[in-house]
Amino acid sequence: MRTPLVVANWKMHGRAATLDTYASGLAVGLGEGHGVACVVCPPAPYLTIFGAQLDATVTLVDQVELGAQDCSPETADGAYTGEIAAAMLADVGCRWVIVGHSERRQRRSETDAVVAAKFEAALEAGLAPILCVGETAEQRRAGRAEANVGTQLAAVLERVGGAGLARGAVAYEPIWAIGSGDPATPSAAEGMHRTLRERIAARSDGAVADTVRILYGGSVKPGNAAEFFSEPDIDGALVGGAALDPADFCAIVATARAV
Ligand code: PEP
Repeated sequence: MRTPLVVANWKMHGRAATLDTYASGLAVGLGEGHGVACVVCPPAPYLTIFGAQLDATVTLVDQVELGAQDCSPETADGAYTGEIAAAMLADVGCRWVIVGHSERRQRRSETDAVVAAKFEAALEAGLAPILCVGETAEQRRAGRAEANVGTQLAAVLERVGGAGLARGAVAYEPIWAIGSGDPATPSAAEGMHRTLRERIAARSDGAVADTVRILYGGSVKPGNAAEFFSEPDIDGALVGGAALDPADFCAIVATARAV
């Protein structure tokens, strides 16, 4: 059985002054529950402060892990102004890192090769990378959704193999559903998750495909989370907008526990 995983991606939101309120909201909303892995990914400048708040809160220390939103593909220290090495993220307490989010693929022109290098750099640093894959609305209309996510997945499988992929997770995030309030239908998402699992099995083996958690991301809210989590191949969610409110994020986690 795959333990559900629910991940909060704050993107470029938040300030130092609001971290405490968010951590208290999580402590109240999550309570003493078990059975779901939770990860919160604040902006990089706040990782250390927020990580300390998680460590200092009895109900959160064993329940919520710290994640980053991106890392450098470079593994050796060097002249890379502005880059943050995966080893630095591990050094400040991160356990997870998102790689290949569509906002970085589209706005920062990250290629599949760069994303695969980031995935491998994260593994080398002992982090669990969350590989985001997803198609544009245009690709979907053209019938190229499966081919596109398949190519994104293959780049990582070629670089780290099935065993490497299994040390992280995959997030299927149709780009048109992110931040739009218009999620994929749960059955369409389930179909893509099954396809991804089949492709993982074909390129490595069935045991790896059965182990890897595949999250859905794209306008997940407390009101629609249950429909996604009821699908057999949807193992959790990567949550953007709704994760900015700790009560909403906790309601999504509670749904994952209940399904
Ligand atoms: C995301 O940023 O990965 C995301 C899924 O955002 P939202 O939940 O706001 O659609």
